[in-house]
Amino acid sequence: MTAARNLSLASTKVGGREYPLRSVPTCFVCASSYRREVEEALIGGAGYRTISRSLPSDANLSPRNIADHLKNGHFPIKAEAVTRLREEQAQERGAIVAKGAEVITQRYSFARRILQRVDERLASGEIEPSVQDALKAAEFLARFDAEAAEDALTRTVDAVFDVAEQLLDDDTYEAFGRELARHPELRALG
Ligand SMILES: [Zn+2]
Repeated sequence: MTAARNLSLASTKVGGREYPLRSVPTCFVCASSYRREVEEALIGGAGYRTISRSLPSDANLSPRNIADHLKNGHFPIKAEAVTRLREEQAQERGAIVAKGAEVITQRYSFARRILQRVDERLASGEIEPSVQDALKAAEFLARFDAEAAEDALTRTVDAVFDVAEQLLDDDTYEAFGRELARHPELRALG
C-alpha cells in the first residue's frame, strides 16, 4: 500500500478536464462505490450533510467522511477550488433568496400604502364606499367572526375535557368521551 500505488494511472474527468484519480484506501469515500456521486454533489455545491443524506442507505458515508475526503485532498480538483466554487454557489443562492424577500417586501408595503391611502380618502369624505364595497366588508367581518367563534368553541371543549380528565377515573373518562361522541347535538357540529 504505497502512495505510488494509490496514484494509479486511472483518471477522471471533472468539468471537462482530466484529473489523476487518487485513491486512499483508509478513506471511506475513496473506497466507496458512491465516490463519483459524492464528488459530483461537491462540485454542485451541496453541503456535507445534504450529500450524506441524499445517498442510498448502503453508502454509509457520514458528513464527516465526506469532509475528510475533500480536506485531505483526495478529490481530483484542488480542495480550494471546490471550496471557492461552493462559496460562489452559496452566495448566488443567498442572492436569489434576498431578491425574493425584497420582491415580497415591496409588494407588502405597496399594499399597505394603498390601504392607507383609501383609509385617508374615506375618512376625509373624498370617496364614498359603494353598496358592493359594504357587502364585501360585511362578508369579510362575518367570516372573521365565524373563525373567532370556532376558536372559542375549541377552547371550551378543551377546557371541558381538561376538567373531566382531572376528576374522572379512566373508565368513566372513556365512557364520557364515548357518550359525547354519540351525542346528537355534538354529532351535528361534525
Ligand atoms: Zn478520500
